Amino acid sequence: MIVAIDGPAGSGKSTVAKAIAKRCGLTLLDTGAMYRSCALLSVQEGLDVYDPENVDRIVEISQAAQISFEQREDGQGVFANGQDVTKEIRTPEIDVAVSPVSAIPAVREAMVAQQRKIAEDTDVVAEGRDIGTVVFPKADVKVFLTADPEARALRRAVQRAGGDAAKDKDATADKQAVDEILADLKRRDAYDSSREVAPLKPAEDAVHIDSSLLSVDEVVAKILSLNDGLAAMDVEAEKKAEPAEKPQPQVEVPAQNPKPAAKGASKKASKAAGPLHAFANNSFEDYYDHAMSEYPLPAKAFFGVVVGIVGGVTKVLWPWSIEDLDKLVDNSCGRMIIMNHGALLDPILVIVSCSVRGVSVRPIFKSEFNANKLTTWFFSRIGGIPVNRGTADMKAVRRARAALERGEHVLVFPEGTRIKSDDEEVKIHGGFALMAQLAKAPVQPVAIVGARDLRKKGQVIPKFFKRVYAKAGDPITFESLGIKGKKQQVEAMEELAMKKVYELRDLLRSKYPGKM
Ligand code: C5P
Repeated sequence: MIVAIDGPAGSGKSTVAKAIAKRCGLTLLDTGAMYRSCALLSVQEGLDVYDPENVDRIVEISQAAQISFEQREDGQGVFANGQDVTKEIRTPEIDVAVSPVSAIPAVREAMVAQQRKIAEDTDVVAEGRDIGTVVFPKADVKVFLTADPEARALRRAVQRAGGDAAKDKDATADKQAVDEILADLKRRDAYDSSREVAPLKPAEDAVHIDSSLLSVDEVVAKILSLNDGLAAMDVEAEKKAEPAEKPQPQVEVPAQNPKPAAKGASKKASKAAGPLHAFANNSFEDYYDHAMSEYPLPAKAFFGVVVGIVGGVTKVLWPWSIEDLDKLVDNSCGRMIIMNHGALLDPILVIVSCSVRGVSVRPIFKSEFNANKLTTWFFSRIGGIPVNRGTADMKAVRRARAALERGEHVLVFPEGTRIKSDDEEVKIHGGFALMAQLAKAPVQPVAIVGARDLRKKGQVIPKFFKRVYAKAGDPITFESLGIKGKKQQVEAMEELAMKKVYELRDLLRSKYPGKM
């Protein structure tokens, strides 16, 4: 069995290949580590790898290099001529030195020969740039893994900071670090794709997978589903297939991208395709990742009670209403609802009004609100999706996109925080337009006035029996913008949708003047 995974730097090849090797008992062949080792040995000799004069010596070094791997608890160790180089080959210096070394034809010949030798008597999952095209053109499974440059840079930055990009809480990184890595990735992509020998390009028969918005498990599941033999080697599926002592409640998990299963997908592979027993452990992730209509009964009952009490009490204390509510509760497709933000009451109006009419709304809330188990529990039960602000939180983007694609509404306050005055300069967080674009969902502006006026500065108890007004605008589709280019569309949507929110707000203000 040979599994070939090719793709640019940071596309998730290593993590995915590692997971497949572990689950299916295959030998992991990290060919990038081999080229990195050649680069390191050359640099250690003091050679300038960019100087053409040094090519012959680099070739000699590479041909003589004895590269081997060792499976360890914490990953794979890499040895070059008996020297443990696991850490040394992953420095920014080697990131820069490896491209010219790997572009030398004789270096590649030497490495490809070693790679084929390793696969002679063992099943392998090999990852690199030319595995499906040159090294193993007859591989049983060929995958070309890609991801947005931004997503790739973020992953590398998280890894470099010692985090695990595959884990939710770590999936953020310092913006400057991300930008620097992004520049390096783009440079390496260009170098690797344009070199003459074995350039980075997909094999004709490779299956393309974009990992930008997929979790590691989802990518792995997709790959396992491509080959019956490979799926049969999956020990995890084997374990899951064993009958549990007590049967767990089974919840059908809708596929995120409901495409037809790949040809030859086996039962075992489809088992690996997602959490089999959603909500079996009642984890917070279960709530973030699934439709509110799939929540367990106690959670649904809790939500119903909260909506009833909070809706009833707030309506008595601050009689509120949403003008043109029908525009909002139309659940023909998922909507990205955006709203100005002045008070805690704002999300309540939308969530309560939609929920009582049977429409789910998923509020995106800042992860700081998950300060303890109790608040985390509460926000998960009301359908909230946490976001790490100020960073590219791809997990939140993926969850919001999935919710929209399932037909749920997502509620975002692009102002980020509660705003104290209508005249305040506000920095808009534009993520909402990207989420909507990915899900092909319209953006719907909503405005609210009055809620902020209930409390004076420094006052704890708000004024009671004052009215609060909101108004729903018309949904805006991306097609209606009449703009080509994805990035331009997102920018135009951010601007137009927020403009509409403020127009609605000003309209309400003119009808119901209050404190500005
Ligand atoms: O995968 P990784 O980022 O560790 O690879 C480092 C470098 O090694 C790549 O940028 C590329 O220049 C080179 N490489 C290659 N062919 C492979 C694997 C890696 O040219 N099969």
